[in-house]
Amino acid sequence: MPNASEHVKLHKLTKTYPSAQGPLLAISDISFSVPQGQFVSIIGPSGCGKSTLLATVCGLTDPTNGAVSIAGRGPKEARRSQEIGIVFQDPSLLPWRSVRGNLHLPIEMADKSDRRHEEPRELLELVGLSSFAHHYPHELSGGMLQRVALARALVLNPSLLLMDEPFGALDELRRSSLRYELLRIWSKRQKTVLFITHSLSEAVTLSDRVIILSHHPGRLLADLEIVLPRPRNVEMEHSSPFIEEVVRIRNIMKEESP
Ligand code: ADP
Repeated sequence: MPNASEHVKLHKLTKTYPSAQGPLLAISDISFSVPQGQFVSIIGPSGCGKSTLLATVCGLTDPTNGAVSIAGRGPKEARRSQEIGIVFQDPSLLPWRSVRGNLHLPIEMADKSDRRHEEPRELLELVGLSSFAHHYPHELSGGMLQRVALARALVLNPSLLLMDEPFGALDELRRSSLRYELLRIWSKRQKTVLFITHSLSEAVTLSDRVIILSHHPGRLLADLEIVLPRPRNVEMEHSSPFIEEVVRIRNIMKEESP
């Protein structure tokens, strides 16, 4: 029986890539667990191994040492059984398919298992795009494309959502409003989320916990609980407790910078 307090478990995760200059250590000895339904952000300087960590969690690359388990299963098995939804910075929608057609794609490609998928129509309503079902990707703004990508990641009803800087290409206003959209959707679906970001305030706004990685090669520097109440709102970003959390993270990262 999977342990709900360890929905995602990373144990001494280490990844070394081959390179012309010899083995390149990308992440080193990272361990932490994430309970079911928790929202965890991973933050750290560019090149510290955040994407490597996420790629290892979803089984796109194998760790050199250590292990990942998702609901008691290895990442590849978890991915095969549709346990993982992924959203990248690039929404990567098929341009020749409508919004609705893009949402149907994972259903068409999935094994005919008895796992219940979500209705694309309901997901479009959830992300506020009901009236765009028959539009094509080129007719949508960057923020709308990311909302479609989020709906597509949810369509097979995964228990874990992995997000690699999903709002990184958007302007600050869109980015801010999508954060709160994501929180609203998360509160309705209660997925476990691992969210990569460069933005300290984004991490604080969204998360129950923030994992801070060191500069290259990435080691776990700190694992902080964010104690701000929910639901969060944009006014909260001006409050002293919010600013204190941002400063706390910044100081840890500053202390560590080379
Ligand atoms: P981040 O997401 O924090 O920017 P990455 O995980 O992309 O960091 O990269 C961590 C380190 O691993 C970097 O030095 C990067 O150049 C290297 N790296 C990432 N992917 C590969 C790969 N497929 N092959 C070789 N080196 C890689």
